[in-house]
Amino acid sequence: MPMNALRDRRCFHHPHREAVARCPECRRFYCRECAVEHDSRLLCADCLARTRADGTARRPSWPWHLPLRLLTGLVGLWFLFYVMGRALLLMPTAFHEGGRTAAPTAETGGP
Ligand SMILES: [Zn+2]
Ligand SMILES: [Zn+2]
Repeated sequence: MPMNALRDRRCFHHPHREAVARCPECRRFYCRECAVEHDSRLLCADCLARTRADGTARRPSWPWHLPLRLLTGLVGLWFLFYVMGRALLLMPTAFHEGGRTAAPTAETGGP
């Protein structure tokens, strides 16, 4: 029987209460009242507040990726037009060659 069993532990906030869960963030034991379920795991109230604060703080105030994406889009658009222009310059002779097959033949109007 291990001495560090969960039922032998006491809540970090309530020493007279038995711990039912261990917070995976701060590694401290908490009673049913102090442990809060978040993302299918039990966190203490302190760590839950910190996780939520981190989640909002992680979002950058300035969207630094926006000008980068705009530049990438412009370069991509320029490249697309460049390739299309090159293709159009090479194509015209092929278009004229293909148009000849659609011309009607004189052999269909026989007696
Ligand atoms: Zn915690
Ligand atoms: Zn407690």
